[in-house]
Amino acid sequence: MTGARTIVGATGEWELVIGLEVHAQAATRSKLFSGAATAFGAEPNVQVSLVDAAMPGMLPVINGAAVDQAIRTGLALGAEVNRFSVFDRKNYFYPDLPQGYQISQYRHPIVGAGELRVDLPDGRTRVVGIERLHLEQDAGKLVHDRSATDSHVDLNRAGIPLMEIVSRPDLRDWEEAGAYLRKLRALLRAIGSCDGNMEQGSLRADANVSVRRPGAPLGTRCELKNLNSVRFLMRAIEVEARRQVGIIEAGEAVRQETRLYDPQRNETRAMRSKEDAHDYRYFPDPDLLPLSLSDARIERLRDSLPELPDEIRERLIGEYGLTPYDASVLVAEPDAAGFFEAAAQGRSGKRVANWIVTNLFGALNEAERPLAESPVSAEALGQLVGLIENGTISDRIARDVFEEMFRTGSSPQAIVEARGLRQIQDADAIDAAIDAALSANPGQLEQYRAGKTKVLGWFVGQVMKATRGQANPALVNARLRQKLDPDGAG
Ligand code: ADP
Ligand code: MG
Repeated sequence: MTGARTIVGATGEWELVIGLEVHAQAATRSKLFSGAATAFGAEPNVQVSLVDAAMPGMLPVINGAAVDQAIRTGLALGAEVNRFSVFDRKNYFYPDLPQGYQISQYRHPIVGAGELRVDLPDGRTRVVGIERLHLEQDAGKLVHDRSATDSHVDLNRAGIPLMEIVSRPDLRDWEEAGAYLRKLRALLRAIGSCDGNMEQGSLRADANVSVRRPGAPLGTRCELKNLNSVRFLMRAIEVEARRQVGIIEAGEAVRQETRLYDPQRNETRAMRSKEDAHDYRYFPDPDLLPLSLSDARIERLRDSLPELPDEIRERLIGEYGLTPYDASVLVAEPDAAGFFEAAAQGRSGKRVANWIVTNLFGALNEAERPLAESPVSAEALGQLVGLIENGTISDRIARDVFEEMFRTGSSPQAIVEARGLRQIQDADAIDAAIDAALSANPGQLEQYRAGKTKVLGWFVGQVMKATRGQANPALVNARLRQKLDPDGAG
């Protein structure tokens, strides 16, 4: 029993098998083999050197910064860093590839086996094997929507350094795949080897998906190309797996092929039949020496790594008493652990984490905004929790205040003052509200006296309503008991 989701078809249960190939743009100022800039959003074809345009006679020169980022990423994945690796030519024709081949690493990648720990919402943890990480160039981009008759080529992306991170087929459903991609993104951002920006294409995932009877040998896979958000990745995997189950249950065989996901129609479509490695005629690039790394370089880069997400997670549990789940969510979301620590200064970490994970992430999700664009700052969220903790407002009122903070960006103090939301702590004021509720509802009072003690809760509700939720509920409870039952046991 793995706890992963399965698909129940007409003939029984099917298990999913998923392996991800993630392309992460290495954070460098210049390209993998040229000095051209990598900044996002430039005018087409202004960041193209003669090397990127594959002019005859141009020679590639390896960018040490890209190599460093690959090494740092390998170390953060707990992987073997290979002292010896080789750049190969992967030969194919496409109009966005002026060289007629992509420089990649095939037989000898710079990083070998590693692993990534993925914490799932239901409390399970899956340790996903990483097969390898290799360095390669990105291709250019074809632009089809500028003219009705012509296509254009933008080579700004051509030659941008990519780290391709290949997982083992260890993922078992779309939730796991989504959690893996989130965690990987958080790791890359934490060490600064990739900005993780999926909208800008700095991080893209290809998903290999197959289905099988639980525990059976691996089935035939299809590869879903260029999924550029976690949501699309998850949806694409689910529809693709259902498609494969349908094919097999109809008595046919899944064909190994490359497919594209269409988010509008929520379906996958065949793009091309799958090439095998021998179709690419890989061979070592004669213009580049093999990469040879010294132990000193690797150790220097190991020392440059900041605290990693799994280490932060352990610390949040130990130092702030967070639940493992809250701690996992905070480290899997870019910037969230830092946000949490800033907000938790001098407050209950558990309460702050709960506000972030439940209320803030909920609101951000709904608004489709990343944490970096949160209208509520860490400081303001901390202040809100402070107002709950010093009794100024109740949890109930805090939710309204939060909603207004999120909408307007105002500080919690300003909202509480402007709307007069301070919690009523004053016993006399509460007594007055209780007396009013009791004399307005003689029938219920009668029932209480006749032994229907549940009515007490109903009276608490009346007092809370009369005070617009501002009375301190614990105090209302205590005073009410006192009044109804002056010499009672409670
Ligand atoms: P290729 O280079 O042709 O894409 P690889 O063997 O490198 O093939 O595998 C690519 C990805 O496919 C890896 O992430 C791997 O885990 C995954 N994979 C391999 N076999 C299967 C399978 N039967 N079902 C799902 N994923 C698979
Ligand atoms: Mg592949």
